[in-house]
Amino acid sequence: MRSNVPECVSLLAHAEASFSTQVHKVGFNLSNKSSKRIAIFGATGSIGRQTLEVLEKIGGFDVAVLSAGSRINELIELAVRWKPGRVTLADKRYYSQLKNALFGLRINVDAGKDAAAKAAAEVDYDIALNGLVGVAGLLPSYHSLSRGIDLALANKESLVLAGEILNRIAEQTGAQILPVDSEHSAIWQCLRGEDIKDVERLIITASGGPFREWSAEQIEVATPEEALKHPTWKMGAKITIDSATLMNKGLEVIEAYHLFGIPSEKIEARIHPVSIVHSMVEFVDGSFKAQLGTPDMKHPISYALNYPERCPFKPKKDDPIDWPALEFFEVDKAKYPCFDLAYKVLKKGGTAAAVLNGADEAAVERFLSGGIKFGEIFSVINKTLNRHVNCNADSIEDVIMADSWAREFVKGLKM
Ligand code: MG
Repeated sequence: MRSNVPECVSLLAHAEASFSTQVHKVGFNLSNKSSKRIAIFGATGSIGRQTLEVLEKIGGFDVAVLSAGSRINELIELAVRWKPGRVTLADKRYYSQLKNALFGLRINVDAGKDAAAKAAAEVDYDIALNGLVGVAGLLPSYHSLSRGIDLALANKESLVLAGEILNRIAEQTGAQILPVDSEHSAIWQCLRGEDIKDVERLIITASGGPFREWSAEQIEVATPEEALKHPTWKMGAKITIDSATLMNKGLEVIEAYHLFGIPSEKIEARIHPVSIVHSMVEFVDGSFKAQLGTPDMKHPISYALNYPERCPFKPKKDDPIDWPALEFFEVDKAKYPCFDLAYKVLKKGGTAAAVLNGADEAAVERFLSGGIKFGEIFSVINKTLNRHVNCNADSIEDVIMADSWAREFVKGLKM
């Protein structure tokens, strides 16, 4: 999708897959076509749950894989409901409990850190939805694309770490990366039917997080509880903290760079507190296109799953008459120093973005456990980037090594 914004999805056969699945059909099929088999990575998280809500409404999908981290009870509940061919849990300790709970349902059970990636590589499915958080999402993305299977991608870290590698693989196998991140879904929709060379700039919108009206001094010492109160989106802890530092927007700049092949100097962000405009594109003739609506992740999820068609499913009734006034502000770089790090690593290339992401994940963990102040998240990441010796990112192993190095470095960093 980088250069021409293609209008059709090609689902390649993947006869080499070795694992045959039992799948369960639910809902009614609005498009009246044969069902697609879907693998959902991060099934118990916010994106995974909302994906299943969408599937329930639109029908036409069989669930082949449900993959979760450690929320065993929620996974059991979803597995009983959807009867996928395989369920996986990253936390190995619950393997027996999971297996016993699903006994007799003809569901293959796997647990362990590599269980999601194994399912991505082995199970028969037609489309993946990756809603995992952090670097854990990288290998499932890699395996889906390597097999020529389309990837509805909410896990931005896959592209941040390995954008060039994944684009290269997708080009080779014919698989498509279908953005689920709301801002990228908006840009994708704005670019349909347009020529990428006519793009003047992309404007990614940001809510500004919970600290938009706080002073830099107040933000410096904000508590985890305060940082976890996102004004518009209900998301997991890591992405909510990333929204408070605006690192999330930085990662989205890198994500947009890889998805649309637009140079970083043509990608900007604007604070838009009410999150009605999900992002916009300015063209060389001064025209702007934007995608708007009351925020609801079910919209970008449904758009990616049904692409190139639009499914007649509205998450809720929406009317511009109910929208608040649309205001936009510059990003205050002094308040949000993390944001600029994205441009810094895009300039560097190589393994720098993997280090940025690894350092951020580790710094957010340290902050949430009370180990560092909110204001120190930036200095931890910046110090890690400055100490990193940049290398070529030619393989998945290269970026995983850089990510691990960054995490270890952050853990040992005295603050
Ligand atoms: Mg987003």
